[in-house]
Amino acid sequence: MQKRIFIKDLIVNKEFIVAGWVQELRDLSNIKFILLRDMTGVVQCTIKKDSSAWEKFADLTLESVIKINGKTKEANVKSEEVSVKNLELEVSDLDILNKAENLPIQIIKKDKSIQTDLSKRLDHRYLDIRRKEIKAIFKIQNTIINSFREFFYSQNFIEIQPPGIIATSTEGGTNLFKAKYFDKNVYLAQSPQLYKQMAAISLERVYSTSPVWRAEKHNTIRHLNEARQMDIEVAFADEFEVMKYLEDSVVFIIKKVLDKNKEELKILNLNLKIPQSKYLSYKDAVEILNKNGYKMKYGDDFDPLAEKKFDEIYKDTILFIHDWPQSLKPFYIWPKEGKEKLSGGFDALYGGIEISSGGKRIHIPELLTEEIKKRDLNPKDFSWYIDAFRTGAPPHSGWSIGLERFTMTLLKLDNIREACLFPRDRDRLTP
Ligand code: ATP
Ligand code: MG
Repeated sequence: MQKRIFIKDLIVNKEFIVAGWVQELRDLSNIKFILLRDMTGVVQCTIKKDSSAWEKFADLTLESVIKINGKTKEANVKSEEVSVKNLELEVSDLDILNKAENLPIQIIKKDKSIQTDLSKRLDHRYLDIRRKEIKAIFKIQNTIINSFREFFYSQNFIEIQPPGIIATSTEGGTNLFKAKYFDKNVYLAQSPQLYKQMAAISLERVYSTSPVWRAEKHNTIRHLNEARQMDIEVAFADEFEVMKYLEDSVVFIIKKVLDKNKEELKILNLNLKIPQSKYLSYKDAVEILNKNGYKMKYGDDFDPLAEKKFDEIYKDTILFIHDWPQSLKPFYIWPKEGKEKLSGGFDALYGGIEISSGGKRIHIPELLTEEIKKRDLNPKDFSWYIDAFRTGAPPHSGWSIGLERFTMTLLKLDNIREACLFPRDRDRLTP
């Protein structure tokens, strides 16, 4: 039996079997047309009266999956939807493998002004991703996560797989999901933080891509209840060394997207630029906001409007804000000596939104115990973690980038759900 071939591999004047989705149907009196789509492109297929497919055409519906036997002929196809312009496939026979009926959302929009709302699209996400604009987002996300891995793999970092079920909270706080684990109460990991640290104090340089769960109370356009994070942790490095890794890896990722996703960037109408970097202390960052007419107090976190303001001031820039007040950072962040009570923590903003937090960590058990107590957490709950630093632990630093958050800001999407295949939010658990 002849094998199915991808549409992009068709060549002129040969017999082929292709299979895919019916994208468009046109019925003229003496000839019928099908636009057939697979993951590699769209080809125009023609049916003449003498073909055994002539009668079957009437049963075809948009988005049905069919298999076609046919012969390619040289052609000059004008249609914008068709990717193979130099040939068409003359159908000798066709089979319907699965018939599509009552499509809940439109795939090809003839009238571009008709918008299907996001919630309805997510209800039928498996169909939604057949649209080329949506497919483009996930093809680019594929490049993002793979080039993150490639960057650190090629620099001899070790990929680790942190657990998703944890006994104690990483950051303290209320945004943990509780679960039952036999007769115990456990939590879903809100970050791989403590585990990547314990790996780094023995393996030196590690990275991971892992899901995290956060019971964020509010539905916002920038938060999901389940997200993916791209993390690194580096022994013997301070926060400035890992900020440089962030800078270099983000630039590497964006260059890969520019190289591998030209078609998708065109579909999304995006003109990506390689970002510059800018480093500011928290104190200077607050001052710059105030000078630019955005009032905020020293000691507050930057809210979404402040982040937008930074984007107006520093266009196409990864903005690193370092030397944060200790009180704004979690217990495992290194407290710097001195009366100002600054820390080794940092945030990175890009496109007007936080893409990453990181910092230098505490590797001294007594100091860690003290910081845990200061935040009204119980050091006993963390003894397994604190004790890890009693067995020879180098100083270390790291960070975490949210995959969906980064995709959202890179592609200028107005809702993080657009950057998540099957989002989990306050109201959505299916599909
Ligand atoms: P934010 O201040 O934006 O709520 P955060 O400071 O609570 O984020 P971190 O703990 O610093 O988040 O997590 C590291 C990164 O993971 C963030 O910079 C962001 O890119 C991503 N991230 C965090 N929480 C979420 C979430 N709920 N949904 C999607 N991405 C998230
Ligand atoms: Mg953060």
